[in-house]
Formats: sequence, structure tokens, C-alpha cells
Amino acid sequence: MDENPLDAADAEAGFAGLGLRPELLRALTNLGYEEPTPIQQGAIPPLVAGHDLVGQAATGTGKTAAFALPVLHGLSTGSRDGGPAALVLVPTRELAEQVSQAVHRYGRDLGVRVLPVYGGQPIGRQLQALQRGVDVVVGTPGRVLDHITRETLRLGDVRTVVLDEADEMLDMGFAEDIEAILAETPAERQTVLFSATMPPRIDSIARRHLREPVRITMGRETTAPGDMPRVRQSAYVVARPHKPAALGRILDVEAPSAAIVFCRTREEVDQVTETLNGRGYRAEALHGGMSQDQRDRVMGRLRGGSTELLVATDVAARGLDVEQLTHVINFNVPAAPEAYVHRIGRVGRAGREGSAITLAEPREQRMLKAIERLTGQRITLEKLPTVTDLRARRLELTRAALQASLETDDLERFRVVIDSLTDEFDVENVALAAVKLLHEAAGGDVDEEEIPSAALPPRGRDPQDRDSRDSRRGGGGRDNPAAAGVARLFFGIGRRAGLRPQDLVGAIAGESGLSSREIGAIQITDRFALVEVPEPAADMVIAAMQRSTIRGRRPTVRRERYAR
Ligand code: AMP
Repeated sequence: MDENPLDAADAEAGFAGLGLRPELLRALTNLGYEEPTPIQQGAIPPLVAGHDLVGQAATGTGKTAAFALPVLHGLSTGSRDGGPAALVLVPTRELAEQVSQAVHRYGRDLGVRVLPVYGGQPIGRQLQALQRGVDVVVGTPGRVLDHITRETLRLGDVRTVVLDEADEMLDMGFAEDIEAILAETPAERQTVLFSATMPPRIDSIARRHLREPVRITMGRETTAPGDMPRVRQSAYVVARPHKPAALGRILDVEAPSAAIVFCRTREEVDQVTETLNGRGYRAEALHGGMSQDQRDRVMGRLRGGSTELLVATDVAARGLDVEQLTHVINFNVPAAPEAYVHRIGRVGRAGREGSAITLAEPREQRMLKAIERLTGQRITLEKLPTVTDLRARRLELTRAALQASLETDDLERFRVVIDSLTDEFDVENVALAAVKLLHEAAGGDVDEEEIPSAALPPRGRDPQDRDSRDSRRGGGGRDNPAAAGVARLFFGIGRRAGLRPQDLVGAIAGESGLSSREIGAIQITDRFALVEVPEPAADMVIAAMQRSTIRGRRPTVRRERYAR
């Protein structure tokens, strides 16, 4: 048994220090969260104390728990009658589901009843759940307003309203809906606003609807250039389901002699360790649930070279100093830019070269920019190694093994095998067969599928970029080819049907789960519209659109035929 596990001590000290109730602390420990992220540190205490709050934080910072935990903390125990106590407004169906799941996981021991509410889902199920009673509603503004109008959702008991990804909701044309919804909630409510950017329109909402809000901004500090180690920094944009395979592939090509892979939670540490061991690596887990003794033994094996990969949480890796580390790999973008700097400080020590590699989900690309701003250094976006790259790399390893053997091994005793074969076969063919056998014994050829790239076309979303984006949306020549990695979709509905860009953005984001910032140029003509989406998402968007309506119609949606 663990004689000195960090779990109770560290996780609960961290989160308990924020004043959260025991049921929540237990849930967090079970989820393998070891410490609050900076946005959680900053936001939870004022929210628990009942203040309004404006938080500038992007996906990946842990912002969901930052507002969900205080909402759950304030939930009364025992039977809860009346309408929902909290309303969370989010821009997309995908986010509504994610946030609901998070609230459900954190609040399981409190018996929280949470309902996601978004367009495209049959309204009947939502009605039944609303009738039975819910504590937290997480919804897209359009559908929430729909329920208010039908009088199936009453907001008179709401104590907290959260506007999540507020900038994105405004981009999608939800400003009026939000105003109308807020007007239905009690004036004395607590209001929380999270947004990745703070354009003036967001500020104006905050001024009108929040009362003396506490303001929290992430990643404003800068690091002196001299503080940064000499490290090659790169990132790969990968959709979540492909991450373990992508990590394996990157490691195959990078071939680090000693590396740390950072994960967010204990569960993730265990999963990644298992994947890597399955791929033939000698990987070991290091997390706060292990005793000091166990952790010391793992570190000993890394230093001694019998382990090549350490898979760790931040807490477990704290204070860890390994001379020979060549690579730091972030399985996710760290929750705060400062944590990134801290992690990569472990390689490139004493003037040695090191590499820092980050796997980012499409929605987390914004966090990479925040890190670049903090460090003043570029993070190069790389393409994942293809199956062809991997094959070439493995052949190179086989060649290197043969060369090393030719240079150092005593091969005389195998001559008899060659001699007996060369009566019948050409020496070169004998060598080829030997290479084949060696190659196969070392793992052989890659029998894997290509991993689709999920990188978004580069585009800013800061207020000053918005004009150029909008003008791209409005006009542009019909014969502009779509950018690389971008597919152009044809929608058989246009201006004559009253179509506006926000109808397309709302429908695509709401139905396919693509975020509005992943949607590129939009052109609307009298009879049809063209919309750019990331190529890997194109088929999924088409399928999603076939199930939905836009301005009351069900238009043809397909790839544009004659482009490119
Ligand atoms: P969010 O920024 O809210 O989308 O959260 C990003 C991810 O971080 C989610 O997968 C969360 O489950 C995870 N997460 C949030 N807070 C913590 C924490 N304190 N420790 C570990 N993981 C966390």
C-alpha cells in the first residue's frame, strides 16, 4: 500500500484551500485532479464568496471547473424544488454537452441534476427533464430562449448565470438572445463571464450586466528572454481521439533517449503509459497517487537508463531534476503559459540542446499563441509524421543497426551460413533476406492508418482582425481557390431566402460541433452560399447539415464541385 500518497494531501489541500465542500473535493480526487489550475485558483474563491466575475481564459485553462465548482458548492442539499439554480450559456451544442458532463462529474456526490439544452435535439426529452426538475441548465442561447417563450423554462430561481465563451456567442449573432435571457433572470443574481478575447462588445456586456466584477486575466506576464532555455519548440494539432497514436508516432521519429510526457490527470497518465508500453516503449507512470518510495524507484530507473519515458503530472514532476532529459512532451497544452515555461525548463540545461513538443487540440491553438506571447519565442507547427515517414525512419534504424554490427561485432561464426547459401543464391539477395528478417524482428513495417491533420488555417480573432475576417466573409471573387487544408462547401440557399452569415455559422457550429473560429470565409450569393471549413471536418459537417434546417429549409449541402 502507498505509505505516503500525495493524493489526499496535495489535491485536497489545493482545492480545499479554495474553500470547496467535501463532496466536491472527493470528486476531484477521484478524477485524478492534483491541483487547481491558475484560473481556478483565481476564480473559485471570489465566486464562492458570491462576487460577479469576468475571466479572460481560453479552452484548456480549466475554466469549466472554475465556474462549475462554485455553482455546485452553492447548491442546497436535500430536496430541491423550483426552477434551476444556475444557467450556463454556451455557443455550441458540443460545448453544452462538454460542460454538462463536467458539471455532472464534479457534482455526482451532490446528486446534481444537469440538463444540456440545444437546437437540433428533440425538444420532448428536454421538456420531460425540465418538468422533473433540474439544478443546472447548460444551453445555447437560441434553444434556451425557445424554452422561455414556450414557458417550459422558468428562470426566477436562478442564482448564477454563466456566459461561457462570450466572444464566440457574440460572433455567432447571439447578442440579442443573451440580453433577452438575462432579462428573465432575477436582478440580484451572480453573473460570471468567460471569454477568450475581450473586445469592446464584451466589455459593454460586462458593464451593463455585471456588478463590480472581479477581473481575472491569464498569461499577461512576460518572461525575460534570458530566462528561456535553448529548446526547439514545436507543436502538432491533433483531434483528441488521435492523440495517443500521434504521440507514439512522434516518439518513433524523435527517438528521445530520455523524455517526460506531461499529462493533466492521473487517469491520463495511466492511459498514456499503457499506450506507450503497448507500442514497445519502456514507459513509467509518475503521479501524485504514488508513494514517495515508489516515485524514487521510478526516478532511479530513468536515471539508470532502464526506463526511457516518464509519463507524469505536474505535481509529481515538481522538483524533479534529470540531467539526461532530451525531450519534454506536453500531451495537452498546459493550463497556463507559465506552466509551459516551467516544464520546458527541464530540458536544454547547461547549454545542451533540447526539444519541447506539444500536442494541441484544434480548439487549444489559441493557448499556443498565449505561450508565444509570454515567452517571446515561436512554437513551430509541425505536420504529423506520415506512414511513409515512419517506414523510412524504421528502415533507417535497421540500416543503423546493421552498420553498427558491421563495425563492431565479430561476424565470423555466421560465415558458414553465407557460404552454404551462396552456392545457390546471389550474395546480395542473401543480404536482402537477412535485412528483411532483422527489420521484421525489430518491429517491422508500419501497419497503421494515416492520422488526419486537424490544424486550422491560421487566422487571428483579436478585435483588430475581425474586420478583415468579416470582409472575407462578405465578398471576394468567386474564383478564389480555397486555401490548402480547407474545403469549400456549397449550400443551396442564399440571400433570396434571407440567409445571413450568422445563420450559416450558427447552423454549422450548432449541428456539427465545429467552433465558429474554425469556420473560414463565407460567400453568400442570391441563390447559394460557399463556406470554408477545415478539410478533415468537411464530411462530418456535410453529414451534420443533412440532418438540420437553415432558415426553415433543408438545402443541398455538398463539396463545391469545380473548385481546385
Ligand atoms: P477546460 O479549459 O475547462 O476546457 O478544461 C480543460 C481540461 O482540463 C478538461 O479536460 C478538464 O477535465 C481538465 N482539468 C480542469 N481542471 C483541472 C485540474 N485542476 N487538474 C487536471 N485537469 C484539469
